Amino acid sequence: MRNISHHPKTETLAEYAAGRIDEARSVVVSTHLSLCAECRLAVADFEALGGACLEDVEPVAMENSSMAAFWERAGEQDILRPKEETPRAANDFDFAAAQPLQAYLSSPIDEIKWRTVAPGVAQHVLQAQGYRQGVLRLLKISPGTQLPKHTHKADELTLILRGAYRDEIGEFRPGDLADLDDEAEHTPTAFGDEDCICLIATSAPLVFKDLVGRIVQPFVGL
Ligand SMILES: [Zn+2]
Repeated sequence: MRNISHHPKTETLAEYAAGRIDEARSVVVSTHLSLCAECRLAVADFEALGGACLEDVEPVAMENSSMAAFWERAGEQDILRPKEETPRAANDFDFAAAQPLQAYLSSPIDEIKWRTVAPGVAQHVLQAQGYRQGVLRLLKISPGTQLPKHTHKADELTLILRGAYRDEIGEFRPGDLADLDDEAEHTPTAFGDEDCICLIATSAPLVFKDLVGRIVQPFVGL
């Protein structure tokens, strides 16, 4: 897999490891984890720390506080060990490997029924069922389409599944995750040869900054 450039914030991974994030955000984070060995290691670290706290064991000196030492202790728990990544093209997202997302898709990604919400923008809402579910959806943006500048009333996690977009933060490609808090303001524009498909978890409506955005918002339903 290509190198992933954008990852969840450390706080987000810690909350995920502690089971303190809502269902929608959890799906986005775990789908990213299925692609990102670096973040899997970070979560395993947090889980190990959390487990040690729960067990109330004697603290162990961590001179070798490296992951190597952790895996040694983890022994046979191969299931935790990151699998070897296989190289693949930059824009080729392995949907089949993204188990967390698969559980929420009612049809293969290429057969999804999209609802057009604005010129060049379509969405498909996925049903999160659990307690504290949040809002989980797929967004498809045609190349060259720019979303109106907006902020968020709550944190938002966006995982790029296909295609690419760029905004004030940088370029986002498959596997990259944008972890935006309620202060963040951005204007994503899809680019490249194919539609940009993102998996997005939000828990509150977006807040558009300009008039066009505010007019579009009721129609977009974001
Ligand atoms: Zn990552």
